[in-house]
Amino acid sequence: MPLLRLVFLLLLAFIAWRAYRLLFAPRPRPPAPPPLQDMVRCAVCEVHLPVTSALRHDGQAFCGEAHKRDYLARHGQG
Ligand SMILES: [Zn+2]
Repeated sequence: MPLLRLVFLLLLAFIAWRAYRLLFAPRPRPPAPPPLQDMVRCAVCEVHLPVTSALRHDGQAFCGEAHKRDYLARHGQG
């Protein structure tokens, strides 16, 4: 019965295709890393921090108010 054999082969191919899809389905992408930010260096402790969270004064960057004060005290301003 060649017709029955053909149907069986088609069924087998369909099952194989489904199994293949199931096993090799594209996985959901991992979350994208955060966009790269420009980094600046604290003028006092030289720690690097994103430009958005740095304090700027007189062309210098600082990691916090304390280091900004340190810098200004050392450089005779403010
Ligand atoms: Zn600092």
